[in-house]
Amino acid sequence: MPVTAACVSRVTSVSDAAQRREELKADWEQASACQKCPQLASTRQTVVFGAGNADADLMFVGEAPGAREDERGLPFVGQAGRLLDQLLQEIGLQREDVFIANTLMCRPPGNRDPLPQEIDNCQDYLFRKLELIRPKVVCTLGNFSTKLLRGDPTGITRLHGRDEIRTIGPRTLRLYPIFHPAAALYTPRMLETLREDFARLPELLALPVPPQPERAPEPVVPERELAAVAAERAPAPQLEEPGPEPELEPAAPESPGDEQLGLF
Ligand code: URA
Repeated sequence: MPVTAACVSRVTSVSDAAQRREELKADWEQASACQKCPQLASTRQTVVFGAGNADADLMFVGEAPGAREDERGLPFVGQAGRLLDQLLQEIGLQREDVFIANTLMCRPPGNRDPLPQEIDNCQDYLFRKLELIRPKVVCTLGNFSTKLLRGDPTGITRLHGRDEIRTIGPRTLRLYPIFHPAAALYTPRMLETLREDFARLPELLALPVPPQPERAPEPVVPERELAAVAAERAPAPQLEEPGPEPELEPAAPESPGDEQLGLF
């Protein structure tokens, strides 16, 4: 079979996604032992890292795990989670299609609000998830994740339902704040608004990926050094016939990381 550019780029992108997934699992392992917030570390049952498709176009970011999430180690598995599932279903998506994370990975005792220091301590884990998963659209659920990812105190009531292009870390993505499903559980008007905002998601997902920031230029190596490196290198290998295309079907869980992340 001839080696075509399309074939090569496909192999590259598949293995790239597989590598990002492995890095996400490594982050999960590290996060599981996190002690940055002594109170949360002493009261939590599990660190709720996040779950879903590690190569998802759409990522949700909620507030913090509640009692159910803390027990099960998975995000949005209580009442608000059931509403989130229903809203996803209404736009033709399932949990397996998206990645769901939170601003905090540990349950605040008594479901109190996350403290500024806790948000600060947890934010690098969230930014790293964004960097590894590379979603096109990030849907923030409620005030905490919206304020964190926008870096601005404007509240969700003013912002919900309006998408904006934001550069967060090395990625440029479409940020889409909406109300938190828990806020809509007992307020029919809020549910109606949430449903309307949710209905725009397919349209946002169909838009092209925003242009990405330029990568920092490679350090300039003086020509003399380049020549020395080239001389040391072995001759370039011949291109070989590519093997069979990488398996795209989901693999069975192989490690606790797979199970926790629910990666599909
Ligand atoms: N609320 C959240 O913000 N996150 C969860 O995981 C569950 C409820």
